[in-house]
Amino acid sequence: MSLIVSRISKAYPVRSGWLPILRDCSFELESGQSLSVVGPSGSGKSTLLSILGTLEPASSGLVCLDNIQILSLSEKELPKFRRHKIGFVFQEHHLLPQCTSLENVLIPFLAEGRIAKEQHDRALFLLKHIGLADRLEHRPAELSGGERQRVAIARALVYSPSLILADEPTGNLDRNNATIISDLLLELSKTTILVIATHDPVLAARTSQQFQINSGTLVKTGTTSNS
Ligand code: ADP
Ligand code: MG
Repeated sequence: MSLIVSRISKAYPVRSGWLPILRDCSFELESGQSLSVVGPSGSGKSTLLSILGTLEPASSGLVCLDNIQILSLSEKELPKFRRHKIGFVFQEHHLLPQCTSLENVLIPFLAEGRIAKEQHDRALFLLKHIGLADRLEHRPAELSGGERQRVAIARALVYSPSLILADEPTGNLDRNNATIISDLLLELSKTTILVIATHDPVLAARTSQQFQINSGTLVKTGTTSNS
């Protein structure tokens, strides 16, 4: 698994011309590595994650995930690529309120048709692995904030993605739950690639590469081994 980001820039069209958000951002990660991006609100963290997640095209530059250049994928190919290769975890859990934990984790499979027995087993395995074996039938309103975020993480993992993108994953949690979610994400990143946008300096310091967004450019602020 590898993620190569080479000189990506992003500008949005505005009435007076173009609003530059990201400039010449580059980094490389492989399986087992994690990267954090910190920066003030509005600095472009979510924009960067949207580009990596193929939700938004870069204005220029290259993104290659597992040797596939994402700009080369057609509109038709993108949803499947995204579903199989990328797991998204957001600040808001985005779980369906009417569905149980187990059903919420099964949702990505539904997009491709009927759910097979091994897919059902995979969802059960993930929920048990993250400590929710006795919360399978709970609906989101019946779970704590930390538990909801764990369900969202299980949902992000159903297809064993190469890349996990987490946008302020601990933003709505107290310190205790933030630590549980951080531990879980960093444990998962041992076998995937993890990119986190965060305001949480404790979490940021635990990733293998640490960056700050400074006027649209990515500035490396540290590296940590064995994270
Ligand atoms: P962060 O996640 O760091 O808070 P964002 O990436 O969400 O920042 O936003 C960065 C900047 O890009 C903000 O100033 C925002 O207003 C602007 N922006 C985001 N999406 C769009 C869009 N679709 N059109 C124009 N400007 C946008
Ligand atoms: Mg954001």
